Amino acid sequence: MTDPRVLIVGAGIAGLGAAHALRAKGIRADLFERNPRPDGGGTGIYLPANAVRALTTLGFGDAIRAAGHEIHRVRLLDHRGRPLIDLPIDDVWGGIGPSVAVRHADLRRILRTGLAADVLVKTFVSDDAAPYDLVIGADGVRSAVREWVFPDAAPPRPVGELAWRFIADGYPEEHLWCTWQGNGRTFLALSLGGGQAYCYADLTAASPPADWRPLFDDFPEPVRRLVAGATDVHEGTIEEVFLDSVTRGKSVLIGDAAHAYSPNMAQGAALALEDAIVLADHVPDLEGYARRRIPRARWVRDQTRRRDRARHLPPLVRDTVLRTVGPRLFKAAFRPLLDPP
Ligand SMILES: Cc1cc2nc3c(=O)[nH]c(=O)nc-3n(C[C@H](O)[C@H](O)[C@H](O)COP(=O)(O)OP(=O)(O)OC[C@H]3O[C@@H](n4cnc5c(N)ncnc54)[C@H](O)[C@@H]3O)c2cc1C
Repeated sequence: MTDPRVLIVGAGIAGLGAAHALRAKGIRADLFERNPRPDGGGTGIYLPANAVRALTTLGFGDAIRAAGHEIHRVRLLDHRGRPLIDLPIDDVWGGIGPSVAVRHADLRRILRTGLAADVLVKTFVSDDAAPYDLVIGADGVRSAVREWVFPDAAPPRPVGELAWRFIADGYPEEHLWCTWQGNGRTFLALSLGGGQAYCYADLTAASPPADWRPLFDDFPEPVRRLVAGATDVHEGTIEEVFLDSVTRGKSVLIGDAAHAYSPNMAQGAALALEDAIVLADHVPDLEGYARRRIPRARWVRDQTRRRDRARHLPPLVRDTVLRTVGPRLFKAAFRPLLDPP
């Protein structure tokens, strides 16, 4: 295919990543983005070392390190603040590079560098595909491209978790990813630097409670203080998407359009960016791309489901498992992801 006409639907992490990866191969793409001001939820995001590695491959290593805040330790506590797991991040990621927490808006700003002229504010409909040789569906969990290309695919499956996200002030200058595990409830605080934290609270439930804040009344400080001061809270339902096949004809799915899970491994951005890089390596061999990516997406899905199942164990059993074999299990879940994509 010489000078293929390429359409990328969705200017999120996957779509912007794909535009850069293709450009590095000399291929320009049109990007359709339906949201004139995509802010990525207005909160923060954790980028483990394989996500930072992918950003570095795309030329944004320095920018993401400058905008983000390095995370050096992972700590899991029970809902009273007693330690379950405490690990240096390098024990998990084998020194492949830093892991960072960053404001979502900063990540999008970095990924938009040099692409302003290629992004059109437009909602994709299937007729738009006609003039293009390659259509990349990077349009997220509720992908219109997926519905068009795979009309029989199952719709996103709610995993039975609700999440609340916000950025809080008054958090110590730590380099820490810290969660408190309650019964069907989790709270995560992630240092963002500048005295701020990205906070994520979730609940195992099918429908939202009238007020989520009291759910964390029995958690220790700083959780209660962070929850009490939460403003501009983004509420969402967690859904799962997984397809055994991500390409048909001239179309291919990447990022959440192809695979979206509960964020307990924080692998969404990494998978999206790796998809982008691997796709650019394979164009126009879309089947080759799919063969290389699906096993990795499946691994993350299976590990994510395992972690979600562990949430439903009685807290005493769960905490005993985490204290004894938790560090080994935690590291093993990420080990295959240390390999380049
Ligand atoms: C609560 C929660 C917490 C998370 N935390 C983390 C984390 O800490 N670390 C991590 O790595 N991942 C995390 N994730 C997952 C991560 O956010 C996603 O995996 C990632 O954003 C996927 O990027 P994407 O580009 O595939 O999709 P999206 O970010 O959803 O981008 C899709 C884009 O397509 C656009 N679009 C949609 N439909 C159309 C259309 N028809 N036409 C044109 N444009 C369209 C949308 O406006 C959007 O801009 C979290 C997810 C959730 C729900």
